[in-house]
Amino acid sequence: ATLQTAIHGDGGAVAVIVPARPGVEAVTATYHDLLAEVARFQAKLAALGVGKGAAVSIATVNSYEFIVSFLAAAWQRAVAAPLNPAYKQDEFEFYIDDVKSAVVLVPRGAYSASSPAVKAAQKFKAAIAECYWDASRREVTLDIKERGQLEGTPKQPLLKAEPEDVALVLHTSGTTSRPKVVPLSHRNLTRTMANIKATYQLMPADRTMLVMPLFHVHGLLCGLLAPFYSGGSVIVPPKFSATDFWRDFAVHGANWYTAVPTIHQILLKHPAPSPLPHIRFIRSCSSPLSPTVFHALEAAYKAPVLEAYAMTEAAHQMTSNPLPPGKRKPGTVGIGQGVEVVILDDAGNPVSPPGAEGEICIRGENVTTGYLNNPAANASAFTASGYFRTGDQGRKDEDGYVVITGRIKELINKGGEKISPIELDNVLARHPAVGEAVSFAVPDEMYGQEVGVAVVLKPGAALSKDELRAWVGERLARFKVPKHIYFTDVMPKTATGKIQRRIVAETMQKQDA
Ligand code: ATP
Ligand code: MG
Repeated sequence: ATLQTAIHGDGGAVAVIVPARPGVEAVTATYHDLLAEVARFQAKLAALGVGKGAAVSIATVNSYEFIVSFLAAAWQRAVAAPLNPAYKQDEFEFYIDDVKSAVVLVPRGAYSASSPAVKAAQKFKAAIAECYWDASRREVTLDIKERGQLEGTPKQPLLKAEPEDVALVLHTSGTTSRPKVVPLSHRNLTRTMANIKATYQLMPADRTMLVMPLFHVHGLLCGLLAPFYSGGSVIVPPKFSATDFWRDFAVHGANWYTAVPTIHQILLKHPAPSPLPHIRFIRSCSSPLSPTVFHALEAAYKAPVLEAYAMTEAAHQMTSNPLPPGKRKPGTVGIGQGVEVVILDDAGNPVSPPGAEGEICIRGENVTTGYLNNPAANASAFTASGYFRTGDQGRKDEDGYVVITGRIKELINKGGEKISPIELDNVLARHPAVGEAVSFAVPDEMYGQEVGVAVVLKPGAALSKDELRAWVGERLARFKVPKHIYFTDVMPKTATGKIQRRIVAETMQKQDA
C-alpha cells in the first residue's frame, strides 16, 4: 500500500479539526476536503520542481498545512523531512544539510532575515516557501520566497507513489554516534498504520486528540496516520496545552489520545473534567510509564491505560498492551503488534531460559530497510537472520509480555524528547572556560529524566551556571539546556580512563547531596 491508497475514509466524514486559537484559523476538513487539498498542494509542489526523491522539509508546529504538505510530498514521490520548528540555526543547518532539503516550508510570516530555519535553508540553497491556510481563499497556499537550487528546474509532472518509495526521513537522537538518518517507505508507514488500527480496533467513529508533535513518529503515525487509515477524525491544536485539553476533548467529541508519560502527568495536575467524557482508552508510549501514574490515570479518567513501545526505525509502534482492557499489564509494554519480537543474547541467539534478559530485537514490514549513507551502522543494526537490534534491554514475562529493563545506550529521555549527551558535551566543550564536560540523565518526577552536566573548568577560569545555560540556549533547542549543572575539580573516570556517564551521574549526585 501507499499513503495515497491507504487514506480515503468516507468522503463526507470529518478527517481534521483544527480548533481556533489566537492567530490560528479554525479548520474543519472532511476526507473529501482533505484529499482535494492534498491534490492541489501536490500540483503546487510539482510546479515548483519537486519530484521523486526531493526532500521537502516542513518546519511548522502541528497544523492543517503540516498535514497537507506532508501528504502532498508523499503523493509526489518526494520525501517529507519534518523539522522541530524550535531548532536553533546550528540544528537546522545540520538536518537540512543531512537530508539535502530541496525546499524548506515555514509558516506564514516566518520568512525573515532573522529566522534560523531561513538562514539555514539559504546556506544550503534550499528553496524557501511560506505555507499556510488562507481562510479567505479556503486553501493551503504555497508562497514561494526563494527558488534556491530549484531555480531553473522544470515543472514536474504529477507522480504516483510506489510502496517502496521513501515517504519520510527522520533522525535518531544520536546517543552513541552522530544522529542517524532513518528513511521510512510507504510500505513501512502503512504497515504501522494497519498495525495500530488493529491494536486499538480503531473505527471511523473514533476521534483522536492529537497532542504529540508531528515531527516525531509518535504523533505522526499514532496520532494522525493510523486514525486516517481507520477513517476516524483527528483534533489538531498547534501544541499541547493542559488548560485547553479537556475543553477541546469535550467540544470536539474526542474519545482517546496517545502521549508520553510527561503529558499524562501534567494532565493529572489539573482537575479532571466534569462531567467526564467517555474515553475508550489512553495510550502511553516513548518513555517508561510508572505504575503510580498508570493507576492515577485510570482512577482519574475511568479509562484503561495501554502502554506501548516504539522507535523511529520501526516507524513507531513495535509492541502494545492489547485490547480488550482486561488483558493489559502495567509495568509491561505488551506484546508484538504485527511485529515479531524476540529477545536475543550477545551472540544473537534466543535467550535461554526464555524469560532471561537480552536485547529486544524486532522484524516486520514496518522496520526501515537501513539507515541512509551509513553502512557501518547498518552492518551492526541487523542480525544474520534479519532482526533489527533496538539497543534496548528487556525480557518476556510468562505470558510473553515485554518488560523493558534498561537502555543499552545512554541518551537522555526528557519526557519523550531524546537528547544526545554527545551533542550536548560538544557544545559545552566549545565554551572557552570549559575544560571537560559530561552530560547525563538525572531522574525527574515531571519529565522522567532531566538534563544534568558535570563540568571541569579550565585552570583560573570562572563561569556561572546561568552563563553556561545561556551558552547552550544560544546553540541548542531550549529543551536541551541542562537543568542540573555540577562543577567539579576532577571528572570521575574508570580504571582505563574512560568516561562512563552512569558513574559520573552517580558521583555528581552524591557530591551534591
Ligand atoms: P538513538 O537511536 O539515536 O539512540 P532513540 O532510540 O532514543 O535515539 P527514538 O526512536 O525516538 O530515539 O526512541 C526510541 C526509544 O525510546 C526506544 O528504543 C526505547 O529506548 C524508548 N522507549 C520507547 N517506548 C518506551 C516505553 N514504553 N518504555 C520505555 N522506553 C521506551
Ligand atoms: Mg534508537
